[in-house]
This record gives sequence, structure tokens and C-alpha cells, in this order.
Amino acid sequence: AIPLVVAINTSLAARNGMLVRDRIAMERARTLDTVVFDKTGTLTEGEQGVVDIATVDGVSEEDALRLAATVEGDSEHMIARAVREAADERGVSRETATDFEALKGRGVRATVDGERVHVGGPNLLSELEGDVPPELERFADRAGENARTVVYLIRDGEPVAAFALADVVREESDRVVDALHELGLEVAMLTGDSEDVARAVAAELGIDTVFAEVLPEDKDEKITELQEQGKSVAMVGDGVNDAPALTRADIGIAIGSGTDVAVQSADVILVQNNPMDVVRLVKLSRASYRKMQ
Ligand code: ADP
Ligand code: MG
Repeated sequence: AIPLVVAINTSLAARNGMLVRDRIAMERARTLDTVVFDKTGTLTEGEQGVVDIATVDGVSEEDALRLAATVEGDSEHMIARAVREAADERGVSRETATDFEALKGRGVRATVDGERVHVGGPNLLSELEGDVPPELERFADRAGENARTVVYLIRDGEPVAAFALADVVREESDRVVDALHELGLEVAMLTGDSEDVARAVAAELGIDTVFAEVLPEDKDEKITELQEQGKSVAMVGDGVNDAPALTRADIGIAIGSGTDVAVQSADVILVQNNPMDVVRLVKLSRASYRKMQ
């Protein structure tokens, strides 16, 4: 039988926009030490747009967009959508490509006109070991300072263009971090995005700990690291990449509009997609526990 208090809790939770899949998680929420948030799509809206382009000599912005949109042609990633949209807006049509491959947490690649072309971020760059030309490096530094995500267009291993993408921090995120601090909790951010962008967003929100440039397969290890320090950890995420971390955390919390895999890996689902509901979850859990004693 379901204990009465728990039954009341879950229906209270439901009324507060939370779908509790694991009732024990509800109880554990009162003893949390740290809440870890994914960045893109969780603390930010996740709807990105290309706001700036840099290219090396001999490559026009249109060339760069054409090639990048071609390689991103198959990807569902938000960055891919933004690149295709930017190409469409400029009336740049795509070429044909073969051997599409998504490189999880890194980028994409395909073959175009016999050339191997990649589009991806810092993780991809370090794997390919291509030299970033100074003009692209300067562009990326400036973009990073403005919390913009940078992805590179890489032709046969050589970066030839960079795109800066702007995402918007969710209106609620700032208050969420403050409220969690008031409850005595530590707040961390876990992202595949660059160190620069992660630090800029973390500084804006007052987040205590940042894990950046983390590959999808390594996200759950960061949760384990915190747990090994004796901390009880909640993970909040929306993406396929967050699923192992959601499973590993003491409480996995998925944004309701997130991917199915994330939702299925979570103990609690935020039906209204409002990260503020994480605060409500902790408060509700603490209040019910007091009643039980
Ligand atoms: P997050 O952890 O912030 O949710 P992801 O793990 O989805 O982000 O992606 C991490 C990084 O990998 C992105 O910031 C980007 O640099 C790169 N990346 C992933 N997919 C793509 C893609 N389709 N096109 C370009 N870059 C990509
Ligand atoms: Mg995400």
C-alpha cells in the first residue's frame, strides 16, 4: 500500500506541476546538498540563432553557411537547426552530401565533394587537432566573453569558419539559483559547451561550480564525483545527453518538454518546464517530512 503521507505528497506535487515517477525521490529531496543543472535547454531557452560569422581568407560567409548547413542537414540538434535557418534566411541553398554522422556532444560530419567536412565545438576541435587560424581564435574569444556558443566549420581537418550562436538565459533561472542558495543548497552547472560560455552564464546566475566541455558519456561521472564527496545530488536536464546523469543522480529531474529519453530517465518530471519547480520540490519534501515526525 502507498503510505498516506506519500500519497498526499505526490498529489500535492502534481498540483505544483511535478510528475513524480519515483516516490522515494520525493522524500530524498529534503536531504539534498547540491543541484546540478544542464545548461542548454535547461537554464537557457535552448533556442539558438546564428548572430555572427567569421571566415578565413578566400571563404565567403555564404560559402561557409552553405557547407555548414549541408553537413548539418541531417541533425536534429538545436545548433544544426540554427545553422540551417541562417542559411535559409540568406537564401543559401544546400549541396548534396554523403556519409552523414552525428558525433554526440561534439558535432557532425559528412562528405561533400570528396572532402571531409565537420561542424562542431571545442570538443571536436581538440579531437581533430586542427590549428585554429588567429582570426577565428580572436572571433571565438570575443564570442565566449559574450556567452555565445561557437562552432567551427572544418574542411579536411582545417578550421575555415566559425559561427557564434546566441542563446537566452531563461527568465526564471536567476531566481531559481538564489532560492536554492537560500535553502542552503549548492548549485552546479554541467555542460558540453565551452568553458567560456559556461563561466559567463554561471557568473550571471551566481552558480557555484562549473563543469564545462563535458562529453555526453562523461556527464554521469561528474555526478559520481560529487557523490563521492558525500553529497546528495539532484540533476536537472532535458537532453538525451543528460539521461545517464539523471539516472546516476540521487534525484533525476527532467524538464517536461525535454527529450523522451531524459523524461524516461528521471524520477521527477517538471510538467510546466519551469526550473523554479525544483525549489518547490525541495520545499514540499522538507515540509512533508516535518509533518511525518
Ligand atoms: P549541452 O551539454 O550544453 O546540452 P550538447 O552535449 O548537446 O550540449 O553539445 C555539446 C557541444 O557539442 C555543443 O556546445 C557544440 O559545441 C557541439 N555540438 C553538438 N552537436 C552539434 C551539432 N549538430 N553541430 C555543431 N556542434 C554540435
Ligand atoms: Mg540540454
